[in-house]
Amino acid sequence: MWRNPEPRKFYDVIIVGGGGHGLGTAYYLAKEHGLKNIAVIEKGWLGGGNTGRNTTIIRSNYLWDESAHLYEHSLKLWENLSSELNYNIMFSQRGVLNLAHNEHDVKEIRRRVSANKLNGIDSEWVDPHQIKKLVPIMNTENCRYPVLGASYQPRAGVARHDAVAWGYAMRADELGVDIIQNCEVKKIRTAKGKVQGVETSKGFIRSNRVGVVASGHTSVLAASAGIKLPLQSKALQALVSEPIKPVINTVVMSNAVHAYVSQSDKGELVIGAGTDGYNSYTQRGGYNIIEDTIRAIVELYPIFGKMKMLRQWGGIVDITPDASPILSKCEVEGLYFNCGWGTGGFKATPGSANVFAHTIAKNKAHKINAPFSVDRFVSGRLVDEHGAAAVAH
Ligand SMILES: Cc1cc2nc3c(=O)[nH]c(=O)nc-3n(C[C@H](O)[C@H](O)[C@H](O)COP(=O)(O)OP(=O)(O)OC[C@H]3O[C@@H](n4cnc5c(N)ncnc54)[C@H](O)[C@@H]3O)c2cc1C
Repeated sequence: MWRNPEPRKFYDVIIVGGGGHGLGTAYYLAKEHGLKNIAVIEKGWLGGGNTGRNTTIIRSNYLWDESAHLYEHSLKLWENLSSELNYNIMFSQRGVLNLAHNEHDVKEIRRRVSANKLNGIDSEWVDPHQIKKLVPIMNTENCRYPVLGASYQPRAGVARHDAVAWGYAMRADELGVDIIQNCEVKKIRTAKGKVQGVETSKGFIRSNRVGVVASGHTSVLAASAGIKLPLQSKALQALVSEPIKPVINTVVMSNAVHAYVSQSDKGELVIGAGTDGYNSYTQRGGYNIIEDTIRAIVELYPIFGKMKMLRQWGGIVDITPDASPILSKCEVEGLYFNCGWGTGGFKATPGSANVFAHTIAKNKAHKINAPFSVDRFVSGRLVDEHGAAAVAH
């Protein structure tokens, strides 16, 4: 589906990380900014990081204007991505419910719905009666945390995660981008405040522009260039059940009981759990997290109590103090970071890649990602999305 080239000695731009964000960045650099001599360097296989491990929820109902603009830019690109890439990424706009279980949830979610409306995002408050119509199997009353209402975004949905990586890879390859797999970047080489290139398991590759898009491993790469980023890396888990006939045709998320579920086209329930309470790089996650998640799922959907789970996995997510990403230049000239997506960056893939390509090509932030500069952790202009990002998704 794409070439398997040996690395050249020099590239105009090197992207470290062959997930959706990295491959998308290379695609937009070539397509929209006319750069041709680009490499994506991936230590494993394409999409083998969080892109191929996530539960694929896509939505744009974030609280603050800055986030709403970024995620809505992305959602608009999702809506046309299959035809843009001429590859079916199976984008399915089946809507998302974010449940409210207590007075605080009701106030917070209603406020978010109002903020979304002001930003032109389709978002509405629905009551338990409307929720029951959308998801008849949900137990809204006889549980620890009765369901008091929810926000509903009809344009939200899911997509096929691998297809996103493969679609961007095929089209980037056609535009001349070298995609180099099984090649680990060991160190970012800098001199006199400028980036020189990357030392890899296949030797040194020179470039004056390096974009790091390595999710959970970004802080390690940054440290190799002497940069300390405000990131913590933790395992985040998900699990799927045996396949069953269609029972749930939207995505349902709950911050309070901390679980979310959707049903894949194959019929499996796709269930999202939380992060471990400690930092690690194990790509597995603790068993107690799954137990808590399943307890919450069975409480909300008693009929799932009889089901068997098929498999479980984890990915290493990179979490910032304000639960918002970093899309930014840094103090080393020619070095750029796209990271900090934490538990929720899949939904941002096209939008993030699109504005990050602009940032690298022009050496200047796009107006959409300007608020997501790393400087905000010094200036204090945080974009605190802990409410909208509370349940891992
Ligand atoms: C279980 C789980 C569920 C999730 N659910 C959702 C969800 O429902 N919705 C949502 O929006 N988001 C979700 N996310 C988050 C989402 O998956 C990520 O934010 C997003 O996929 C990040 O994409 P990426 O391209 O930046 O990173 P990745 O896909 O992780 O790509 C980074 C790549 O960099 C490579 N790499 C790392 N170090 C090096 C190195 N030194 N040299 C070369 N290559 C390197 C890695 O191998 C990897 O392939 C979830 C994450 C997990 C783990």
